[in-house]
Amino acid sequence: MSVAVVDEATITNFKAQLRGELVQPGDADYDAARKVYNGMFDKRPRFIVRCVDVADVISSVNFARDHSLLLAVRGGGHSAPGLGTCDDGLVIDLSRMKGVTVDPAAKTVRAEGGCVWGDVDHATHAFNLATPSGFISTTGVGGLTLGGGIGYLARAYGLTVDNLLSVDMVLADGSFVTANEREHPDLYWAVRGGGGNFGVVTSFLFRCHDVSTVYGGPIFWPLDQAKEVLTFWRDFILSAPEDINGWFGFVSVPPAPPFPEQYQGQTMCVIVWCYTGDLGQADERFKSIRALGTPAMDLAGPVPWPALQSLFDALFPPGLQWYWKADFITDLNDQAIELHTKYGAQLPTPYSTMHLYPINGAAHRPAKDAMAFNYRDANFAEVIVGVDPDPANNERMIAWARNYWLALHPYSAGGGYINMMMGEGDEQVRASYGENYDRLAQIKARYDPQNLFHVNQNIPPAK
Ligand SMILES: Cc1cc2nc3c(=O)[nH]c(=O)nc-3n(C[C@H](O)[C@H](O)[C@H](O)COP(=O)(O)OP(=O)(O)OC[C@H]3O[C@@H](n4cnc5c(N)ncnc54)[C@H](O)[C@@H]3O)c2cc1C
Repeated sequence: MSVAVVDEATITNFKAQLRGELVQPGDADYDAARKVYNGMFDKRPRFIVRCVDVADVISSVNFARDHSLLLAVRGGGHSAPGLGTCDDGLVIDLSRMKGVTVDPAAKTVRAEGGCVWGDVDHATHAFNLATPSGFISTTGVGGLTLGGGIGYLARAYGLTVDNLLSVDMVLADGSFVTANEREHPDLYWAVRGGGGNFGVVTSFLFRCHDVSTVYGGPIFWPLDQAKEVLTFWRDFILSAPEDINGWFGFVSVPPAPPFPEQYQGQTMCVIVWCYTGDLGQADERFKSIRALGTPAMDLAGPVPWPALQSLFDALFPPGLQWYWKADFITDLNDQAIELHTKYGAQLPTPYSTMHLYPINGAAHRPAKDAMAFNYRDANFAEVIVGVDPDPANNERMIAWARNYWLALHPYSAGGGYINMMMGEGDEQVRASYGENYDRLAQIKARYDPQNLFHVNQNIPPAK
């Protein structure tokens, strides 16, 4: 798309329609406003609209469309490939739309499109409720939900999309709709995994569950026990009751308390647990886990849900360089485990990591075609991330992530989780949706035939 020229009078008129702020190059906070979480992306939009309400979103969509501007939508700004911004075009920044309303009787929560998960957890925890999200509280509700949502509660209560009851959206033609089981059911089907392809979601309605204090946290093992730990974890998590979850990772022990100095900086393997069952049973339930090998550090115990969710927030501040590779795994066989122990031991920088998230249990219950998210028969989501503050290390960490992923890809289910991929292109996006892809492309053709919303893991409209 060529860079559109918009005259000053038109810009003044647009600005007058907004309750929120229009930030342009040269404005004092332009540099702050254009920043996204992944420091690899340093783009310079022509307009950033800090929307405060649905009317602002409608005006912004209409303005971008009518002036043929490239359009990016930003929820929490955590996108791996920096999809919450663009060069020269218009960014709809939802971060000032943070309203959250809990209905304790109905056990639902409504969150506006600019919330991050910490906003939602804070609101629901007051009622001893939670809705499934991810593993960190700084991620946007918008992007995480629209891509699927894999988190601590996936085995107990499903993915985030499995708990999404309704969305309010602004479509490419500027119209405002509600999509749920009764209204626009095709759109409701598509937004549950289809990403930001279909419009701007201004609010999400989620089902909540009785989750308050859980039993969770990390247990670390030395690297020489990695094969034994990973093998145990695979077998355990494939057959465990749904109220227990734990993701496996290779990590460098952070250089700060509460981690003992003797372990700081060491590469170890970790399982970060979340048990939502009866707390009185927790010690018994963790017996076999604690009997495994010789744990170096055991930090699991009773923890309020929002505290578990925000355990890693401070370790990953905004602005680091992030390079992501992802796959879904059905069968984590012994050869794959062998390769994991090889590459996991070679983390290229202290922030870099590999995680395997379980997506079985309740996340297996919906049919593969029940909604856009397709990998209902996969047991794990694998993510390999090279992370570092210094761009000088990018080449090295990217090479590690690619080689690791290439070695494991033959053991994968084919596609990856779109929220944990860079811009791999059409083929990988198609693989991520499997047999649901064609239906998504048809729904895209119906709601966004000109592909106005294409700064995302794009599904072009069917011809
Ligand atoms: C540190 C970190 C931890 C993560 N942990 C998890 C995890 O535990 N589980 C998990 O599932 N994922 C996780 N992710 C991946 C995360 O789900 C994606 O990065 C997601 O896209 C972030 O959403 P966002 O709103 O913050 O991003 P943004 O960059 O704002 O948006 C990402 C995409 O979604 C679109 N979008 C966002 N909001 C809206 C909206 N309201 N309406 C329409 N389109 C919208 C954007 O246009 C863009 O295409 C993590 C990412 C990071 C960086």
